Amino acid sequence: MEFQRGFDELFLIEENIKRISYKIHESAIKANKDPRQIILVAVTKTVTPEKIDKAIECGIKVVGENRVQEAKEKKEKVKNEAQWHMIGHLQRNKVKYAVELFSMIQSVDDFELAKEIDKRAKEKNKIMDVLIQVNIGNEITKSGITYDKAEELIKNVASLENVKVKGLMAIPPFCENTEKVRPYFQKMYELFLRIKEKKLHNTQMEYLSMGMTHDFDVAIEEGANMVRIGTGIFGERKR
Ligand SMILES: *Cc1c(COP(=O)(O)O)cnc(C)c1O
Repeated sequence: MEFQRGFDELFLIEENIKRISYKIHESAIKANKDPRQIILVAVTKTVTPEKIDKAIECGIKVVGENRVQEAKEKKEKVKNEAQWHMIGHLQRNKVKYAVELFSMIQSVDDFELAKEIDKRAKEKNKIMDVLIQVNIGNEITKSGITYDKAEELIKNVASLENVKVKGLMAIPPFCENTEKVRPYFQKMYELFLRIKEKKLHNTQMEYLSMGMTHDFDVAIEEGANMVRIGTGIFGERKR
């Protein structure tokens, strides 16, 4: 019966991706946006390579991981092509590997970290795309630069040659009632637009990465064009 269960789990991934894609479509239409411009990042922390392969077969183009070591081990085993994004807190001593593994680091919140990314990217002759993570709810438990200091950090990061700022990322406070999260998404979108309008050197405000399983519809309505979904695709995480 092991086989049967495995089969069902893979089938569920397919169903989940269809359902979420449909909801993304609906929210985009509501927000007057082209649904094709919303990127669905499948968050694969704790998810097996086999399931990641299945998700990619179902149309997933971007995979998001939280830990460098875990990503490294799994990426070797995943057969299908995808972009891998780092979405978790990045330690400086892991940057060297992160620059090899990922096409984007969404969690840059500190200039020292950005300088290390620049240095390691230079060694590899690579330009590393990054998002600046903003701690929009000012939560002590969460990473991210504060809202007030975001612009200054962006300007500093933009001065680095081998790092390219491509937008912003945020994890707002969790609220059961997603209407309570809406103001945080709105505030992020305002910041995103404000910086975009300034047309800063070496800065492209292309991606606004916010919204997870329980609130991605609200995030899209408020301007997100990249959503990061784990549980909604792969089911509850066991760890
Ligand atoms: C785990 C995680 C997600 C996905 O969360 P779900 O609620 O499972 O969709 C998104 N972003 C980050 C940074 C995460 O760590």
